[in-house]
Amino acid sequence: MSEAQKGAVPMRPRPLPDEASEGYWQAANEGCLAIQRCQDCRRWNHAPSLNCPACGSGDLDFEKVSGEATLFSWTVVHHSPGPGFAGKLPLLVGIVELAEQPHLLQVANLTGCSEGDLHLGMPLHVEFERIAEDCALPQFRATGGQG
Ligand SMILES: [Zn+2]
Repeated sequence: MSEAQKGAVPMRPRPLPDEASEGYWQAANEGCLAIQRCQDCRRWNHAPSLNCPACGSGDLDFEKVSGEATLFSWTVVHHSPGPGFAGKLPLLVGIVELAEQPHLLQVANLTGCSEGDLHLGMPLHVEFERIAEDCALPQFRATGGQG
């Protein structure tokens, strides 16, 4: 290992936005949770796609959501999935259901709680972790104390 590598903090993997998800990541970088919404049938859609899974329309846009969510499922990662996670273990990874629509799910890290606190339906609110100057990751913090 070179001297430079020894001193460097390992980089977390960062998202690679594509044509469909670019708006989601751009909003996240600005501290805003924006979810793709069909402009024809008004259904929310996540993960972003090029056409609405409900009606097939290609008229999709990103709209800001409340950031309120509940815990739908989760897993606990005890072994580092890659460089940059050493200080983050165990990593609580949730599938959260956004308040805007039933089964509007997204995967995100869970913060502000420990493994023993996790329970189905626990209330969460979005927050953002900046991992690079031009990149912030949405994650969800437990609200309402140790609930
Ligand atoms: Zn639609």
